[in-house]
Amino acid sequence: MTKEEWGKLKHELRDTLGAHNYTSWIEPLDLREVQGNVAIFDVPTTFQGNYVLQNFGDRILYKVAKLTPSIKRLEFSVPTVRKVHTGAATTGQKSGQKTGETAVKKAANSGDVPASKSVAAARTALDAQFPAAPLDERFTFDRFVVGKPNELAHAAARRVAEGGPVTFNPLFLYGGVGLGKTHLMHAISWELKASHPELNVLYLSAEQFMYRFVQALRDKKMMDFKQMFRSVDVLMVDDVQFIAGKDSTQEEFFHTFNALVDQNKQIVISADRAPGEIEQMEERIKSRMQCGLVVDLHPTDYELRLGILQSKVDRYREDYPNLQMDDSVLDFLAQRISTNVRVLEGALTRLYAFASLVGTEITPDMAQDCLADILRTFERKISIEEIQRQVSDHYNIRLGDMIGPKRLRSFARPRQVAMYLCKHMTRRSLPEIGRRFGGRDHTTVMHGVKRIEELRHSDAQIAEDLEMLRRSLEG
Ligand code: ADP
Ligand code: MG
Repeated sequence: MTKEEWGKLKHELRDTLGAHNYTSWIEPLDLREVQGNVAIFDVPTTFQGNYVLQNFGDRILYKVAKLTPSIKRLEFSVPTVRKVHTGAATTGQKSGQKTGETAVKKAANSGDVPASKSVAAARTALDAQFPAAPLDERFTFDRFVVGKPNELAHAAARRVAEGGPVTFNPLFLYGGVGLGKTHLMHAISWELKASHPELNVLYLSAEQFMYRFVQALRDKKMMDFKQMFRSVDVLMVDDVQFIAGKDSTQEEFFHTFNALVDQNKQIVISADRAPGEIEQMEERIKSRMQCGLVVDLHPTDYELRLGILQSKVDRYREDYPNLQMDDSVLDFLAQRISTNVRVLEGALTRLYAFASLVGTEITPDMAQDCLADILRTFERKISIEEIQRQVSDHYNIRLGDMIGPKRLRSFARPRQVAMYLCKHMTRRSLPEIGRRFGGRDHTTVMHGVKRIEELRHSDAQIAEDLEMLRRSLEG
């Protein structure tokens, strides 16, 4: 594929993806080179690259591969710029570190990041110096499907979005990946921007907070930094677990947090777990974060998944009026894809892309073929060891204690949970399971499984534990 060919192809994508998507996401992509079976594109920011890959990757690849079949993969990267070394990033977990590094590149390059004129004008000079991630325009309240697992979080977010007097501060939203935390925070932002344009609303990820902080230190602009953060009316920090273990960032976050709370400014925070469970987070920060309202987003249930799919399909119908979709496909997807909503959406997107490109109807059979790789991960064979490991991690006990003879409740209950999961997620027989739990009798296993089955209905905590464990084992 040559640059000219890409130029042409780009225009064709306009028809598939719509004018809006085209201008925002596809137009800025420049083909840098084809290296072996990888086509590499220049993107203005890492965020854009990730976004394009996640949302349009399949469709772009489909077209590209049609033109040049040897291309098997796409890569989007920001043209290299001077790399900045920071000590702060080195303690990050693996994934954090990777994005962290690119974010440093981005930050170092912030002067060159193109921002649309209207946006730039609306920002203060200071803010322009530290650009925040754009809000996703699909993440609004009217696109958020409410169900039992997320109704409380939704109600709390709505309340904050009214912009009335601050009733709980902060609002702390937590839950597993892909359950709608970022969606809700963006929705609050959109709503406030529309109804209270005078308010200075700042949304950013904890990672961006860190990079702004590091950059301010480097450029000796700490005063500006502090002033900027203390002048917002509503501060939203996403994925706060990112700054766990990053001491000076935490320190600064703590001061920012307190300054805003003292001024009675609203703060919204999200994390992948409850405040008390974030390791390597200072106690005083944890307890501060628990002062307001802490709400969790529960794993999705079948009804919510179906509702979300339904609302997506309604939108797709506008874009693809001619495409037929069998109703049983939604049921199929909601049953089979039980983890996060992002995967669910991705599956649907792929089905539509495929069907519209190939010109077929979407049926369960076609879905089975087209999504084979995604579905396979949900059918992955799970071993007894894996379950034992996950469960002992989850309850914070030693593997040895779970398998061993101790009968303390704090070991016995997790042991029963593990037995229950082994019974339901593997094909092992009860005697086999018993053997792997320190040579216990199959009646013991049966009793354990029964006990959890009962508790599952009467004890919400157990039900949630089971759902979480099942999800992490399946994911
Ligand atoms: P998180 O931040 O919790 O990891 P996101 O907010 O990024 O998850 O959500 C992942 C994807 O799933 C987004 O595209 C979001 O729009 C979608 N999503 C999650 N929950 C819902 C919901 N209740 N209704 C509609 N879309 C949802
Ligand atoms: Mg998120």
